[in-house]
Amino acid sequence: MKPFILSETNWKSLKDREIDLAVLPWGATEAHNYHLPFATDNIMVEKIAAESAMIAWDKGSRLIILPTIPFGVNTGQLDIKLNINLNPSTEFAILNDIADVLNRHGIYKFLILNGHGGNDFKQIIRELGARFPKMFICCCNWYQSFSNSDFFENDGGHADEMETSVMQFLSPELVLPLDEAGNGMGKKFIIKALNEKWAWAERKWSKVTTDTGIGNPQKATREKGEKCINEVIRKVSDLMIELCNTKINNMYE
Ligand SMILES: [Zn+2]
Repeated sequence: MKPFILSETNWKSLKDREIDLAVLPWGATEAHNYHLPFATDNIMVEKIAAESAMIAWDKGSRLIILPTIPFGVNTGQLDIKLNINLNPSTEFAILNDIADVLNRHGIYKFLILNGHGGNDFKQIIRELGARFPKMFICCCNWYQSFSNSDFFENDGGHADEMETSVMQFLSPELVLPLDEAGNGMGKKFIIKALNEKWAWAERKWSKVTTDTGIGNPQKATREKGEKCINEVIRKVSDLMIELCNTKINNMYE
């Protein structure tokens, strides 16, 4: 039983405990090429949250990890079988209700730990900040906490070398052999500014990739996944510790 994981702890351990920070891991349920499980984003983000929190807890941080939200925004993938879409407005409603609970119980620091590219919490956090002015709400996309080229030969973004390597390390029993994976070939936009990322449009996933992956997974290894995830856990645990140690009314220097 880990006392900093809400699903595992109990009323006896929790009821008189001071908590500075609540962390909500958020994933998605979606196809990940042919070889990775639908829960890939959930498995990764939950493990990162738990391992990072253990380091922070051992250093005295008073935090709690909430249960992982297993569905994300998949509006660009509605035609891909059993990709479960939550609309952005649904995500707002969920976060509003969770923030209301935290706010009532005096837990004013709230970190959304995100593991899915379709989830975009910035605008939601702006609106929640206006509703809950005592709170400090922030989000972190763990997959942006490191440089892909420090660990991997090929980039991509979905069921790619990085995600495959990390899953080979975390949940090898759920990863098919790489000769069963597609090549993760992703098409680019015709419009230049969209590829240069200073203009943006949602990608219609099934027009961009045939195997649902973007990024070639063939060079993935368990060792690369272990190195990468250890770096992520180091970074995310530092973030949790800093959030716990910094006063809400003194955030700037
Ligand atoms: Zn993923």
